[in-house]
Amino acid sequence: MQSHEQPVLRDLVLVGGGHSHVVALRMLAMQPEPGLRITLVCTDIDTPYSGMLPGYVSGHYSFDEVHIDLGRLAAFAGARFIHGEVTGLDRANQRVLLKGRPAIPYDLLSINTGSTPKVRQVDGAQAHAVPVKPIAHFNQRWLALLERVRGLRDRFTVAVVGGGAGGVELALSMQYRLRQELQVLGKSPDLLQFVLLTAGDTLLPTHNPGVRARFARVLRERRVAVHTRAEVSQVSPGCLTTQDGRTFDADETMWVTQAGGPAWLQGTGLALDEHGFVCVNEYLQTPDDPKIFAAGDVASFLPRPLEKAGVFAVRMGPALARNLRRALRGQPLQPYRPQKHWLALISTGDRHAVASRGPIGFAGDWVWRWKDHIDRRFMRKFTELPAMAPASPSQAAPASGLVLNAEESRQAISAIAMRCGGCGAKVGASILSRALGNLQPVQRDDVLIGLHAPDDAAVVRVPPGMAMVHTVDFFRSFIDDPYLFGQVAANHALGDIFAMGAEPQSATAIATVPPGLEAKVEDLLLQMMTGAVEVLNAAGCSLVGGHTGEGRELALGFAVNGLIDERMTGVMRKGGMRPGDVLLLTKPIGTGTLFAAHARHAAKGRWIDAALKSMVLSNQAGSQILREHGATACTDLTGFGLLGHLVEMTRPSGVDAELQLGALPLLDGAVDCVKAGIVSSLQPANVRLRRALRNAEAFVDDPRYPLLFDPQTAGGLLASVPADRAADCVRALQAAGYPHTAAIGRISAASDALEPVMLSA
Ligand SMILES: Cc1cc2nc3c(=O)[nH]c(=O)nc-3n(C[C@H](O)[C@H](O)[C@H](O)COP(=O)(O)OP(=O)(O)OC[C@H]3O[C@@H](n4cnc5c(N)ncnc54)[C@H](O)[C@@H]3O)c2cc1C
Repeated sequence: MQSHEQPVLRDLVLVGGGHSHVVALRMLAMQPEPGLRITLVCTDIDTPYSGMLPGYVSGHYSFDEVHIDLGRLAAFAGARFIHGEVTGLDRANQRVLLKGRPAIPYDLLSINTGSTPKVRQVDGAQAHAVPVKPIAHFNQRWLALLERVRGLRDRFTVAVVGGGAGGVELALSMQYRLRQELQVLGKSPDLLQFVLLTAGDTLLPTHNPGVRARFARVLRERRVAVHTRAEVSQVSPGCLTTQDGRTFDADETMWVTQAGGPAWLQGTGLALDEHGFVCVNEYLQTPDDPKIFAAGDVASFLPRPLEKAGVFAVRMGPALARNLRRALRGQPLQPYRPQKHWLALISTGDRHAVASRGPIGFAGDWVWRWKDHIDRRFMRKFTELPAMAPASPSQAAPASGLVLNAEESRQAISAIAMRCGGCGAKVGASILSRALGNLQPVQRDDVLIGLHAPDDAAVVRVPPGMAMVHTVDFFRSFIDDPYLFGQVAANHALGDIFAMGAEPQSATAIATVPPGLEAKVEDLLLQMMTGAVEVLNAAGCSLVGGHTGEGRELALGFAVNGLIDERMTGVMRKGGMRPGDVLLLTKPIGTGTLFAAHARHAAKGRWIDAALKSMVLSNQAGSQILREHGATACTDLTGFGLLGHLVEMTRPSGVDAELQLGALPLLDGAVDCVKAGIVSSLQPANVRLRRALRNAEAFVDDPRYPLLFDPQTAGGLLASVPADRAADCVRALQAAGYPHTAAIGRISAASDALEPVMLSA
């Protein structure tokens, strides 16, 4: 989480988590710029380090060893991480357009999205070939290929299209690994054929003849069939056709050819080169927009052409960080001076590598060990993140070096000055109307006065035969992404309505936002309320009003009204459990410990991403399915944790429960976090409830035990269902989008014991 001690004055948006941005982000983190908010947007959470990718394919490295965890890096840098895709720029309004969510503003922007393989230009390539980028897709296809090869009975040909260093390295790495796999399984490695096709006259055209000759020999010895002047013009299932009419068998085709810039750059109006890469000057700045920088493969360096290689992308990182900082401070930029000759260490897959630098080339196992040492040292910078001192309040924003105009300086000073309470703490009307003016809450006939015709208060009708269900929830933000926070907060508030089996009708919002520049406050509100309204609308719940005030921290809550049959049919209360019922849980647990770890930069980005996906998953369909399967009692899991909520059900039901620890659905990483001793600050209060456990001593050492007390945000539904319908109910819930649903225990008649809950393995 970013510190809200100081207002956000400037937004730096980093588009793409490539090599240059990870280096730049780390540097900006080591010396934070007061008042600067950094947002990193990337389609990958784990971004690969290209130098080690072939080693991963060869099986020398694990997935985590070759990937930089952007979620964790961003948390360390105090930056906001958006796991999403940039689809364009609205340069007139300085906004980055994102797929499936509101655009975000920038004051300064940097692009480092890599290159895009040109699969579209070749007939059938998009459908039948596997491009190495984006890497997440490549990895899935690679893992699938590994599985396929393990089950191999007949001959199988892998074709690699592209004769640059990437193609050659990938072909050799894949061959090494796949042959090993077959050998381990007692199958003949000779079932595998490898073919390498390149349009050029030679392999490795940018390397010296000695290096080329070495690779030609290795490929020959390894029986990889190399075909030069073989430009693939068509990819069909099982077959490749070249421009000159030759055909090649290819059961799997890897596409590592010349790449181009991404399609979305075309609509930005920025100058692009003939391959669609964005032009940058010696400062890595676009010549036609001083607010936009670019680095890595996506940048076309105007002073002189550079090879598309990770080496350059990495080296651009420090220059980029320096110039982004200088641009924000209004200081003159400094040129980036790329090296004339650069060292390429190209592996042959079998822990052997060839070094190539200008006219020099040499090879050996020791070269691989040297490369391994260099690569691991680079990666350690992103895995062993130093502890950072919290930003000092004395680094107050107006004292920062960021360039502000007179009006912005006034607003910044006002934001950190002593603020009024009472109605003086309301957010200004013009900010509110601009931020909320475009929200489109769902229209309902029973909402007589709502946001479509704002008044002092909303007026809603309770339809005949219906009763109203009221609930309220409110909490402060635990993530830096206001759009996602809005979604989670709304979903959390709706949880009580669904747990009762009611239909959501209307909601009023209460929010606090930290003071700051008007434009930033407006955007914060817009992002947060857009997320919230999307969730409310999807549930058929109309946002009818609200109140926004200033506060130290961003916080959001809702009073939600739901409707239910006044005869109370279909209501799922906590007290209806019956002996013999099966206990079901619809979502995995662990959000408390995961976000406590996130706050300490100790959680993996993909754990947090999965937890957030679980938090925004609505309980609406789950509630319906539980009712259809005769659920006898239900509640939603929130702050008191699984045990706390279970006891809230067993007590009024007058029953006991058996909870099967091994059956609990758990979020990825939850056990790792509690094992590391990281728990939520609410956990100690919840742990007091252990007195409800009959046999806790036998399980206290089980790493899953602390998760019984883990507070949940927007958790799943905990319900009891008649035993004869439980299996059906679990299947229906899993099919409806709750894949982790599990039967986690049983309800029994109340015993004489004071403790109602018994644990089992
Ligand atoms: C098999 C192989 C091996 C290689 N080995 C080497 C090597 O040993 N040494 C070397 O120097 N080079 C190597 N290269 C080249 C190297 O991979 C690239 O030059 C390098 O990855 C470019 O880095 P980058 O920082 O420009 O972008 P990338 O590393 O490609 O990162 C870009 C990031 O931006 C994300 N992104 C893309 N589009 C969007 C979007 N619209 N919105 C948000 N995020 C987006 C991507 O998902 C990705 O995470 C190899 C290439 C291949 C294919």
